[in-house]
Amino acid sequence: MKKAKERTCPVCGIGSLEAGHTTLTFEPGGAVIVVQRVPARVCSNCGEDFVAEDIGRKVYALAQDAVDRGVRFDVRIYKSGNIPEAA
Ligand SMILES: [Zn+2]
Repeated sequence: MKKAKERTCPVCGIGSLEAGHTTLTFEPGGAVIVVQRVPARVCSNCGEDFVAEDIGRKVYALAQDAVDRGVRFDVRIYKSGNIPEAA
């Protein structure tokens, strides 16, 4: 079994994925929640960003929680806390 980490961008096939940050936007039920500085791997060629599944889930839960509390529009900064940076 090969356990190679994805290093080449699967979108353009040229760039390499490097640790960085991205901005995620969620629109649950018509609300708009923007979360900035989410750890992601970003392609050095096309700029496509890839967020780890667990981080994506956490950010989505954060957005959903805000909407549940009646927020219709918000811009937040992601706090990494004890989540390891995407390598
Ligand atoms: Zn790319």
